[in-house]
Amino acid sequence: LSIGSGDKSMIPEVDFSDIGGQDAAKQELLEALNFVKSKQQIKDLGIRPLKGLLLSGPPGTGKTLMAKAAANYIDSVFISTSGSEFIEMYAGVGAKRVRKLFKEAREKAKKSDKNNAIIFIDEIDVLGSKRGQNSSHMEYDQTLNQLLTELDGISVDDQVNVLVIGATNRIDILDKALLRPGRFDRVVKVDLPDKEGREHILKIHTRNKPLATEVDLTQLAKETFRFSGAQLENLTNEAAIMALREEADQISSEHFREAIDKVMMGEKLNRKPKE
Ligand code: ATP
Repeated sequence: LSIGSGDKSMIPEVDFSDIGGQDAAKQELLEALNFVKSKQQIKDLGIRPLKGLLLSGPPGTGKTLMAKAAANYIDSVFISTSGSEFIEMYAGVGAKRVRKLFKEAREKAKKSDKNNAIIFIDEIDVLGSKRGQNSSHMEYDQTLNQLLTELDGISVDDQVNVLVIGATNRIDILDKALLRPGRFDRVVKVDLPDKEGREHILKIHTRNKPLATEVDLTQLAKETFRFSGAQLENLTNEAAIMALREEADQISSEHFREAIDKVMMGEKLNRKPKE
């Protein structure tokens, strides 16, 4: 599941089969991506290109994975960044970074002979929250304005199709201007996985692990209510560590039981209010 090399703009080696559950989200995303793929028809019909797509949902549910799988699906360069990288104390720096980001995306695509560039902005709420409401005033506003300008500047006639995928778990604080038609006009909800989703995710993350035959992933999925994909991945890893500790060559259901306790305990500690 890693990016091909140290270069963040490489095409990620993640595809939709690496993402468990999230059937509705995957379906919606694929539909949008097929839209990007049929550029000529879109042009002929005078439809405005899809410029921005928002993945909205709790942490660890696979939003980053989806953005990477999207890049793979449309054979696109992938530039990944986070909203917090744009926030500086000095006026104009954030806006300048946004400009640079779009320029870099186009250049990288051209250099690698791709027609598509995906810019992934994790935690987009950090730079896209309602204008005029941030304590650090103007700087945030300028950065957001620049992002809006860049989105508005994307044209169907461009040599490189730029698609911005934003991820957030705070869609409620986003500036409405971002969600206006022609900007992030598609919102894909990525929720915590249901029981079937959890089983699917457990299957994916145990693909390369030696499981004892008695291990019942359906049952484990039942016992991991409200676990996110990231927690389930962590669970499979912890279970393998338990097995290693006992010098067992297979992971047993007992190892999983202990791992569930450990992951749940870790969550509780994380949630403990700071004194
Ligand atoms: P954040 O909001 O914290 O950035 P995210 O929604 O972007 O989280 P990811 O970074 O995609 O979550 O997920 C973290 C890790 O958790 C992934 O690398 C993967 O190992 C695992 N994971 C999360 N969701 C899924 C899923 N649906 N299927 C398979 N693995 C998943």
